[in-house]
Amino acid sequence: MTRRKIALAGIGKIARDQHVPSLAASPDWELAATVSRSGRVEGVPAYATISEMRAAHPDVDTISLCMPPQPRYPYAEEALMAGMHVMLEKPPGQTLAEVHALTHLAEAKGVSLYATWHSRMARAVAAARDWLTDKAVTRAHVTWREDVRKWHPGQDWVFEPGGMGVFDPGINALSVLTGILPRPVHLTAAILEYPANRDTPIAATLTFSGNVSAEFDWRQEGPQTWDIDLETDAGPIALRHGGNQLWIDGVEVAGSSGIEGEYPALYARMAELVRSGASEVDLAPMVHVADALSLGRRVTVAAFDW
Ligand code: NAP
Repeated sequence: MTRRKIALAGIGKIARDQHVPSLAASPDWELAATVSRSGRVEGVPAYATISEMRAAHPDVDTISLCMPPQPRYPYAEEALMAGMHVMLEKPPGQTLAEVHALTHLAEAKGVSLYATWHSRMARAVAAARDWLTDKAVTRAHVTWREDVRKWHPGQDWVFEPGGMGVFDPGINALSVLTGILPRPVHLTAAILEYPANRDTPIAATLTFSGNVSAEFDWRQEGPQTWDIDLETDAGPIALRHGGNQLWIDGVEVAGSSGIEGEYPALYARMAELVRSGASEVDLAPMVHVADALSLGRRVTVAAFDW
């Protein structure tokens, strides 16, 4: 089978860690060009702008955007306007309205737009969703505690407006939660902890309808925690390691500790969407973040420096 040509834009941490290796192993895609101000991938033609890349490679009709959310919209708009299929890293934009605009543009242009949620592709998430379909969830709690210095070393954009702070990883938890709950919930309260010198929160405590709650914290040193614990009318169920391990009634039924399957699954899904002429844009995780930033009570905590 011929592999379809794709370009990758914003060659930084996640592009190098996940996108490049996933594309190298993909049966669907050939990485034909990069678009980045300074980043390059060895052996792949590099361009500074989408228009330069398009001029040199008119046969590349799909682009995957990996830059942070703040600068992403103009890249997505330009690519869609040029009739390209577009894949967005999470979170899909810095505001909901931006992503609505992109969705309408993709529809008008007749191309595919995919707002990816890599954690939803974690190994045990589909099994958890299927098991929960006919259950009543009586309680759910998310614990997402990680070390920002380890996962985002020196990346000031996470603390700048639009960078979402601790919701940058927290939205991964929300993508899993909204992907598995049999009925939607809505946020009712939030406490957001802002470092005295930063514009986005470093920790958040969220309360939702339906006895659902979440705690996100970016100050966790040592072991990292990405867990979701639920109680149901049929007993407890837990996802651990960011959705990669599933425990039902205290017994591990599926699992791995790595995220290695997530990005290959995103690119397989993008190939399906392009082949079938469809788009997939689920904003439920981002709605909860916007609601938390709207409802949240602000608490100032110690200044944060790298
Ligand atoms: P990053 O390394 O800080 O940035 C990625 C690249 O985007 C940079 O190397 C830069 O490439 C480009 N870029 C940065 N600022 C830009 C600007 N103002 N205008 C144009 N391009 C700009 O970030 P990252 O960690 O890869 O994260 C990028 C996205 O992936 C985020 O949405 C994040 O949530 C998501 N993500 C990250 C991780 C992770 O572990 N870090 C995991 C999953 C998902 P050039 O300067 O060469 O253009």
